[in-house]
Amino acid sequence: MFNTKLATQSHPNHQTIVKLSNRVAIGGKDLVIIGGPCTVESAEQMEIVASQLAYAPIQALRGGVYKPRTSPYAFQGMGLEGLDILASVRSRYGLPIVTEVMSIGQIEDLAASADMLQVGSRNMQNFDLLKALGSAGKPILLKRGLAATIEEFINAAEYILSHGNPDVVLCERGIRSFDTYTRNVLDLAAVAALKQLTHLPVIVDPSHAVGKRELVAPLAKAAIACGADGLIIECHPEPEKSVSDARQALSLEDMVKLVDELRPVATAVGRNIRAIAPEKPAIALISCSA
Ligand code: PEP
Ligand code: MN
Repeated sequence: MFNTKLATQSHPNHQTIVKLSNRVAIGGKDLVIIGGPCTVESAEQMEIVASQLAYAPIQALRGGVYKPRTSPYAFQGMGLEGLDILASVRSRYGLPIVTEVMSIGQIEDLAASADMLQVGSRNMQNFDLLKALGSAGKPILLKRGLAATIEEFINAAEYILSHGNPDVVLCERGIRSFDTYTRNVLDLAAVAALKQLTHLPVIVDPSHAVGKRELVAPLAKAAIACGADGLIIECHPEPEKSVSDARQALSLEDMVKLVDELRPVATAVGRNIRAIAPEKPAIALISCSA
């Protein structure tokens, strides 16, 4: 149907599985829930997020260090200092880290530390960036453009695949429409279509789709029910104080509750939610009888 060779299904039932670490892979029976703030703001912030969500459990951490902001005067991200914070949290909780790459010049540094590089909506058709990510050596989370058709989205993935990187995960994050009540319109039909048309894992970002925290949970459940391989959700220790996307950030308590509520939905569609982080250290009972 489309002029694509690598992204589209060639064998029915063939499903690509994208490995983020030894314990986390997207596209199999286990769902991958990626949680964390829109923007990395401090080491303390990321420590609180990881310590509270590792046992929810989520399976990967997100946090932007280079941010595509609508206004050039808005905070643009912590840069490499933020990347060091993500890497340090990963080493303590064993959760792979996902962060956005905005330009070719950022690839080398980000690929050296992150487990997955996100291409944001605004860059979905930045073809030079997509080509360069073909040799990044890290899995790519490709978000659907603000107004991209399904065909354009699949072609964007084809750019990365055809330049040598087979590890692409598609992310539906809502598209622009006429209604401004929600930030975007979550296209769940695209999730079902992409699962049929391609062999790539497909995850959903309900946070950027709706832009309002009270609408995130119902859409997260709907996404899993309709076949998504995972979710990426923004949450923050103090949501209203988020430096970016505050209105859509869940509290950590609400994130834990959401993961719990997702379990029966996951089970109903034959999927699992599995803990990745090492077991919480048990309290040692020491006998003092000697
Ligand atoms: C983000 O994940 O914070 C982000 C900017 O997403 P999108 O590119 O989907 O707007
Ligand atoms: Mn955001």
